[in-house]
Amino acid sequence: MIDLRSDTVTRPSAAMRHAMAQAEVGDDVYREDPTVLKLEETAAEMLGKEAALFVTSGTQGNQIAVLTHARPGDEVILEAESHIFYYEVGAMAALAGVQARTLPGVRGQMPLSQLKKAIRGVNIHYPETKLICLENTHNRAGGAILPLSYMKEVYELAQAHQVPVHLDGARLFNAAVASGIAVREFAAAVDTVQVCLSKGLGAPIGSLLAGSREWIERARKWRKALGGGMRQAGVIAAPGLLALNTMVDRLADDHRRAKRLAEGLAQIPGVSIRPEDVETNIVIADISGLSVGMADFLQRLAKESVLATDFSETTVRFVTHVDVDDAAIEATLLAVSRSVSA
Ligand SMILES: *Cc1c(COP(=O)(O)O)cnc(C)c1O
Repeated sequence: MIDLRSDTVTRPSAAMRHAMAQAEVGDDVYREDPTVLKLEETAAEMLGKEAALFVTSGTQGNQIAVLTHARPGDEVILEAESHIFYYEVGAMAALAGVQARTLPGVRGQMPLSQLKKAIRGVNIHYPETKLICLENTHNRAGGAILPLSYMKEVYELAQAHQVPVHLDGARLFNAAVASGIAVREFAAAVDTVQVCLSKGLGAPIGSLLAGSREWIERARKWRKALGGGMRQAGVIAAPGLLALNTMVDRLADDHRRAKRLAEGLAQIPGVSIRPEDVETNIVIADISGLSVGMADFLQRLAKESVLATDFSETTVRFVTHVDVDDAAIEATLLAVSRSVSA
């Protein structure tokens, strides 16, 4: 099977499994797990922040960020199709009790003029704007990169209003590798950041949340409250260290393959896609020009040993990752051609 449903489907490499077996461990709630401490130090250093916290998932990291930045009744501004708003089960409302103010973006970017208007002034009727969230790369915008210049403009505006900025950087390493700008440069344009180890970097579990030492101390308490205080977590931190140390540069291969896939798909009659929109590892193609419907199309693809997902009623999503090589991309294009003409 060529599994292009998501970059979360990767299996840990032999090196990762070996590292898990060999990991030095301790009780991480007592802060005695040397492998977790090493992972947190490494991430903080790479992201240019004072401290980092190992969390179970990207969702947990983002929700801890919302809980640590805001209180019930506060308002959080975020892009209308951002992961935190769209895909995190309403947790910001259910757990943090905050109100979401969503602004539709263009390739993941909330227009600055709209953002400026959305920040609340002082008025007895208003909630207080306590957080702005950005997402880079932007998942539902098809892995689009938020330019560093845009992030800096948002940060300047936010700072002028004393509103902190949190970055959902589940795929920040993809943005960094594709743009040639270090993750720490992007992270410098926000107060706090969450990065995933279990997507393109290929680790089985985990994310990191980074920020100031004082803020991470408060986040650590929220992590405990959410049941994320883990014990001998070194066994899962060890592959995370390998992810940060050995899996970043190879993301360029995923991007090259996604581009090749997009260019090949663009040649298939009835499939429409603009290859220039594919900036990283996510490929979204519109199949409304085909005579087969979505369910049928995905089923035919699966029979050809290719798995993809329906992103919307008319669009299919393919995500490249470490377990998809050049041959798999060519096989996928062949499978799509056969599925549309069958
Ligand atoms: C996957 C993802 C997350 C959350 O990751 P989980 O580890 O699956 O909870 C957060 N933000 C974005 C943009 C993502 O793509």
